[in-house]
Amino acid sequence: GCDCKRFLRNNWLLMSTVIAVVLGIGLGVLVREYGKLSNLDKVYFAFPGEVLMRMLKLIILPLIISSMITGVAALDSGVSGKIGLRAVVYYFCTTVIAVVLGIVLVVTIKPGVSQNAEEIDRTGSTPEVTTVDAMLDLVRNMFPENLVQACFQQFKTKREELKPPSEPEKNSTADELVTINMTTVNQENATKEYKIVGLYTDGVNVLGLIVFCLVFGIVIGKMGEKGQVLVDFFNALNDATMKIVQIIMWYMPFGILFLIAGKIIEVNDWEIFRKLGLYMATVLSGLAIHSVVILPLIYLVIVRKNPFRFAMGMAQALLTALMISSSSATLPVTFRCAEEKNHVDKRITRFVLPVGATINMDGTALYEAVAAVFIAQLNDLELDVGQIVTISVTATAASVGAAGVPQAGLVTMVIVLSAVGLPAEDVTLIIAVDWLLDRFRTMVNVLGDAFGTGIVEKLSKNELEQMDVTSEVNIANPF
Ligand code: ASP
Repeated sequence: GCDCKRFLRNNWLLMSTVIAVVLGIGLGVLVREYGKLSNLDKVYFAFPGEVLMRMLKLIILPLIISSMITGVAALDSGVSGKIGLRAVVYYFCTTVIAVVLGIVLVVTIKPGVSQNAEEIDRTGSTPEVTTVDAMLDLVRNMFPENLVQACFQQFKTKREELKPPSEPEKNSTADELVTINMTTVNQENATKEYKIVGLYTDGVNVLGLIVFCLVFGIVIGKMGEKGQVLVDFFNALNDATMKIVQIIMWYMPFGILFLIAGKIIEVNDWEIFRKLGLYMATVLSGLAIHSVVILPLIYLVIVRKNPFRFAMGMAQALLTALMISSSSATLPVTFRCAEEKNHVDKRITRFVLPVGATINMDGTALYEAVAAVFIAQLNDLELDVGQIVTISVTATAASVGAAGVPQAGLVTMVIVLSAVGLPAEDVTLIIAVDWLLDRFRTMVNVLGDAFGTGIVEKLSKNELEQMDVTSEVNIANPF
C-alpha cells in the first residue's frame, strides 16, 4: 500500500545499492565460472568500480576542509572545547571496550592454539617498522610541513631500498601498497630490502588537515566581523560539496555492482579461508557483538532512543564502508546519512565525523588486538598480563594511527606485534584474509562514528540550544 510506496521513495538509493550488491555477487560468480577473463579484462571489468572510488576520494578534500572549518567556527570556542572533549571521551571509551572485547574473545576461543603451523605459509621477511617509528610518524602526520602537499600526498611509505624496478608503484592504492610492502617481500629475490620509515600511504593526509582546519576554524570563529567572510566562504563551499556528494550517490549503485563483482573475480585463494576460519570467526563475532550489542546499548542508555532505527538510518553508509573498506572515502555518505536520515545537528556532524573517521576506529582496534593475540598463539607464546595490557594499549594507539584507507590497520598492526616482541613479518600470516576482515571492521568503524554523533549531540543539547538563541552564526541547509 501507501506505506510501502513511501518507504521505497525514501529509500530508493539504499534499495538500489542492496540490489547492486546482490547483482554484483551474482555477476562476479558467473563471470568467474564462465568468463575466462584475462588479467587485463579483469581490470576493464572493474573499471566502473574504480571510477566510484575515485569520485569518493575526490570529494574527501573539500568535504573535510569545509565541514571541519565551518563546524568549529560555528561553535564558540568554549562550546567546541566541550563538544570536542565529549567526542574524544566517547572515541576513547568505545575503542577501549572494543579492544577488551577482542582480547576476551581471542583468549577464550584460542583460534591460534590448535592451528597447525605448517598449514600456513610462514615465509616472509620483516618490514622493519618499530613502535617508535610509528609513533613519530603519527605526530609527523599531524603537522604536515606543506599544507598543499598534504592535500594530495600523504607521508609516503619510505623504504631504504626498492624492489626490482619493474614493480609499478607510482599509482598504487593503499591496498596494493600493503601488498608490495609485505607480500612481495616474500618473493625469492627480495629479502629485507626495505626499511619502512613512513607508514601512511594513501591520498590525502587527513590527520594533518584536520589539525590545521581545527585551529583555523577556531581562529576565524573568534575574529568576529573580519573573519565572517571566511566563514561564509567555507559554508558555501560546504553546501556545494554536499550537492556534489548527492550527484555521486546517483552513480553509486552502478559503481558498487562492479566493485564487488570485480573483487569476486580477482580473489584466487579461497582455501585460505578454511585455514584461518577460526581466526576470522573470532574477529567477526567480536565485530558483531560490538556493533549489535555494545554500541547500541551505549546509545540507548545515553540517548534513550531506538539504536537500531538509528543504525538503519546509517545503512547506506555502512553498506558503502563494507564495499569499499575505507572510512575516509565513506565519509561523504556518512555525512548524508547522519544529517538527512538521522537528522543529527550539523554543528555536531561537521566536527565529530571527520575526526571520528580518522581517529575513532573501534573495528580496527578490536581486530588488531585479536590478530596480535592470534599470532602470539601461533608462535606458542604464553602472554602474561603485562603483555596483554601492552597489546591493549598499542592496539588502541595503532587504531588511532591507522588512516581510514583500505588495510591501513594491517600496516599499523606491526606496532602491536613489535611491542610484545613478536616477529613483525608474521603479519604475512593473516594478509590473505585481510581484505575481507577489512571490510567488516571498516563498517564497524563507521558505525562507531555514527553513534558518536547521536551521543555527543544528546550530551551537548543544552549548549546547542543556548547557541540557537545567542549565536549569529547560522549554518545554511544545503538541501
Ligand atoms: N580500512 C579501515 C578504515 O578505513 C582501516 C583499517 O584498515 O582497519 O576504517
